[in-house]
Amino acid sequence: MKHLLVSLLVLAVAAPSIAWSEEVVVYSSRKEHLIKPLFDRYTEETGVKVTYLTDKAGPLIQRLAAEGRRTPADMLITVDAGNLWQAAEKGILAKIESPVLDANVPPSLRDPEGRWYGLSKRARTIIYSTERVKPSEITTYEALAEPKWQGRLCLRTSKKVYNQSLVATLIARHGEQQTEQIVRGWVDNLAAAPFSNDTKTIRAVEAGQCDVAIVNTYYFGRIQKEEPEIKLALAWPNQQSSGVHVNVSGAGVTKHAKHPEAAQKLLEWLSSENAQADFAGLNAEYPVNPRVQPTEQVKSWGDFKSDSLNVGEAGRLQAAAIRLMDRAGYR
Ligand code: FE
Repeated sequence: MKHLLVSLLVLAVAAPSIAWSEEVVVYSSRKEHLIKPLFDRYTEETGVKVTYLTDKAGPLIQRLAAEGRRTPADMLITVDAGNLWQAAEKGILAKIESPVLDANVPPSLRDPEGRWYGLSKRARTIIYSTERVKPSEITTYEALAEPKWQGRLCLRTSKKVYNQSLVATLIARHGEQQTEQIVRGWVDNLAAAPFSNDTKTIRAVEAGQCDVAIVNTYYFGRIQKEEPEIKLALAWPNQQSSGVHVNVSGAGVTKHAKHPEAAQKLLEWLSSENAQADFAGLNAEYPVNPRVQPTEQVKSWGDFKSDSLNVGEAGRLQAAAIRLMDRAGYR
C-alpha cells in the first residue's frame, strides 16, 4: 500500500512535465516578482518550462552544495558578485563558454572563468539631501571620512554583502591600511547606528537624521516612483578617479545541471536585447548589455563613470573586508 502511494505521488509530480519538451530548474535569491514575468515570457516564446524556487543567497548556495549531484537545480540566480564568487568557490557552478554571453556582458561584470555572468548592474552610490547639501560638495567615497561630514553620515550595517563588496574594492585600490583609515573615518562621522537596510538608511536622510548616505540606486528608485517630489538625489562620486562602485545581480549554470544546454540558452536569453530592458527595468537597475537603454527614470539620474575593476574582486577580498570593518568598529 505504502509502495503504491509513493508511486502515485511520483506520477503526480512527474506527469505535468511530460507535456514539456524542455525544462530549466532555477534557484533564485532574486525575488519572484522580478524573475517570474521574464520566465513567463521565455516559456511563451520558446515552449521551455522554467521552474523556480526562491530563498536568500546563503541558504540557496548551501543547499546546492549539500545536494551535490542530486540537485534538481540547473541555474543559480543571485545578487552581488560577492555571493556569485562564493558560489563559484564552492564548486557548484559550471564553467561555460558562450560567444553570446561574452558579447552581451562586459568583461568586468562576469567571472573571467565563465562560471557566472552579471545580468543587471546596480550602483552603490552616495545619496544626499537636496535641502542641506550641494551636489558639488560630494566628491568621493573616501572623502565621507573627512571631518566635514562629522555627524552627517548614515550607513547600512556592515553585515550586508553590499557594504562588504564596496569595502573590498577600496582594499583592492588602496590596500588594507589606508582603507581602514577611511572606514574609521566613516564610523567617526556616523549620525546614527548603522541601519538594517537601504530603505531605512534613505529615510533617515529624508528625516534629517543625516545629510548623506551610501545606498544602492534601485532602493531610491522605488521610493522616488512613489514620491517624485522627495528632497533627495543621487550623486556620482569618484568621477576623477576609480568611478562609482557597481555590482551585479547575475547567474550561472550549476555544475550538476540535468539540463545544462537548456540552462545556458535561458542564461543567454536573459542577457539578450530581448530580455535586458525588463530584467533591469523591473527593479530600476542598469542593463549589463551595452546595447540596451535603462528606463527613463534611471536615465534621469544622469550618466557616470563606473569602476572598471572586475566585480569578482569583491568576492576575493570579502573576508578581508569583513575583518577590516570589524577592526574599524563598523557594526
Ligand atoms: Fe538589494
